[in-house]
Amino acid sequence: MTLLAINALETFYGASQALFGVDLDVEAGEVVALMGRNGMGKTTTINSIFGLARPRAGTISFAGRYLGGMRPHRIARLGLGLVPEGRRCFPNLTVRENLLAAARGSEWTLQKVSELFPRLDERRDQYTNTLSGGEQQMLAIGRALMTNPSLLVLDEATEGLAPVIRQDIWAAIRKLKAGGQSILVVDKTLAELLPVVDRCFVLEKGATVFTGRPDELTPALQDRYLGV
Ligand code: ATP
Repeated sequence: MTLLAINALETFYGASQALFGVDLDVEAGEVVALMGRNGMGKTTTINSIFGLARPRAGTISFAGRYLGGMRPHRIARLGLGLVPEGRRCFPNLTVRENLLAAARGSEWTLQKVSELFPRLDERRDQYTNTLSGGEQQMLAIGRALMTNPSLLVLDEATEGLAPVIRQDIWAAIRKLKAGGQSILVVDKTLAELLPVVDRCFVLEKGATVFTGRPDELTPALQDRYLGV
């Protein structure tokens, strides 16, 4: 079953066009990477899915429903969970309060988030602004999961995090995948990202230029589309 389908998407910021034809789809149970160099349109694609940027052409459908014109809170309620770039959580709430504030549905509970991120459980009564960057990212993922999303979307899953914490995040993503969670993920560290994903979409100048399995994204293609 196709969970997310994006076709020929064009999105603008005012008069300036950022997306020129993005095609992307995520099947239920898949982990999909959205890739591309800086400024190629990954965040804009994600913002378009969540109703945070306004597409001018093309379509986005989720679980068979067109999202065009829908407000962000309604889109989220359809079962889309976002872990935004920069991991925004409420700074004046504790870890526990942050998680409970996000709760919707019954599958994901504080208990389940604690099992996924034991570190977060140890800090459950701490205020968010006292957490390390990695702990904040775990909390941001935990918050998104508490909404029981059918699709979890991570923009820059491990950016700026210490290597040991990055491994914790990837381990959590693998566990979620094993549990059947559908995931769309952006990350710059190819060596960590590629082994986790089923398929990749690469953007260049706001358009999809490659779709395929990680083993089809050859070193030559990586160099062409993702090299610096
Ligand atoms: P990065 O890896 O640097 O986050 P990205 O692939 O996520 O890059 P986007 O942030 O989607 O890329 O940017 C796509 C294009 O849209 C870029 O040319 C960028 O300068 C432009 N852009 C992004 N946000 C805005 C904005 N708020 N207003 C105007 N232009 C924007």
